[in-house]
Amino acid sequence: MSTIPHWYWLLCFAGLGACVGSFLNVVVWRTPRGESLVHPPSACPGCGHGLAAKDNIPFFGWIFLRGRCRYCKMPISPEYPAVEAYTGLLFAGLYALHYMTPLRPAFSGVGLAGSWPVFAAYLILAAALVAVTLVDTALAIIPLCIPNFVLGFALAVLPLSAGLGLWAPNASETLATEPFLFTVSSHAGLLAVGGAVVMLGLANLLLWLRVLPHSYDGEFTGSPADSPDCVPAKPWTLKAVLKAALIAWCLAFALAAAVGFGSGRLVTGVVAGVAAALPLGLAALAVLKAQSIPELPTNDVDMPPLNSPCKVVLREALFVAFPVVGAVMGTAFSDAWAFDAATVPVWVKVAAGVAAGYLVGAGMIWAVRIVGSLAFRKEAMGLGDVHLLGGIGAVLGPVAVVAVFFMLSVFMALLGYLGLRLLGKFEAGRTGGKPQSSMAFPYGPYLALAALLVMGTGLALPDQAVGGVVQRLLAFCGADPNSDAGILSTLHALALQMAK
Ligand SMILES: [Zn+2]
Repeated sequence: MSTIPHWYWLLCFAGLGACVGSFLNVVVWRTPRGESLVHPPSACPGCGHGLAAKDNIPFFGWIFLRGRCRYCKMPISPEYPAVEAYTGLLFAGLYALHYMTPLRPAFSGVGLAGSWPVFAAYLILAAALVAVTLVDTALAIIPLCIPNFVLGFALAVLPLSAGLGLWAPNASETLATEPFLFTVSSHAGLLAVGGAVVMLGLANLLLWLRVLPHSYDGEFTGSPADSPDCVPAKPWTLKAVLKAALIAWCLAFALAAAVGFGSGRLVTGVVAGVAAALPLGLAALAVLKAQSIPELPTNDVDMPPLNSPCKVVLREALFVAFPVVGAVMGTAFSDAWAFDAATVPVWVKVAAGVAAGYLVGAGMIWAVRIVGSLAFRKEAMGLGDVHLLGGIGAVLGPVAVVAVFFMLSVFMALLGYLGLRLLGKFEAGRTGGKPQSSMAFPYGPYLALAALLVMGTGLALPDQAVGGVVQRLLAFCGADPNSDAGILSTLHALALQMAK
């Protein structure tokens, strides 16, 4: 496999990404509306004529048709080729960052042949992040099937392929030094994750049997998902797409130039530019999507206030208590149930790592949701966000998911909020209208941006580019500043120290 040149794989992943992007366009339209993903086949919304095979070619089909239906000449939104082109660049960019740069040594070290299951999970997660960003921006909902698919893929493919020995023989050891594929190898850790998973299953069973109450029993009945059709979106204009692409490209180029000059190394600059271009492109898609949402006559997209936030929170806390108690009991009984962790098969350790990442990711958002719902007396952070960060954690692992949430998504949300306010003021000043008083503020896109940045860079890059400011801060807190692997390993070291 090592004889196959990089450019070949770049082309393959770009093509694969464009096809996946074509599928994402279907996902973005149909999943919030509860429609099947496979039936009926795509047809022109204007004349209902089915699409010819050559019109279905991602990106190029739209170019050949010059953006119009072959039969009725109705314009086709450039949203579709834009998503296809972006997903193609995303897959190729992730391949370049993982296998052609020193950014992710565990991946470039063993190559595609030795790490493809993890990389496949990364691509699945990346595609899901694109879909979630577009749906959440447009409709302020995250269809749970999208993050759940990511979780299902990680839970099935990562342990299975590790157990079958489909990776390079030393992959598990190499990847153990990489902060990303997280395997749980300690006796107490395995028992804690096992206890949490068993109790989470029990809680879900009791919920299904209605022994545990659903948290929103007796609260509002309608959900925004009931009416995604009520406001037809404006189609994207080609001019807006090109403008957004140009701005994203210029920002990435500026960063690449700054890092290149700062470090005195051209390669570092190019890597920084590519790593920045992936989340910037996703942000550009989100902005385009947000601009296509028509202004609502009244600002009624907010969740209605809860009648009894205490009741809702108590019910949710009761549910969350199950896995927490399970983890504590697992650790507490670790003396009573002794076994040699070294004899545990590798697939169990990988599965435990996936489960641990899911539990940590979902648990963090759920904690914020419980506290926020009490504080603001309305739903803060949807259950979609809980599942989304759970899915991100399942692939990236429990250490990286903490960085995604606390270090990056909060920062990006602040940046996005300020940016949107400025943009609103600017547009209002230009058109002479009033700035929109309050914007719907879905959190999913920010989680997606942060996850994409962590996935692409391993967070090693900000370490080098910013001169290790964060590392120095952490070193000040007592962690090892000379570690090469970056912020995540430092976080890991901090967590280990706290555990001692
Ligand atoms: Zn037509």
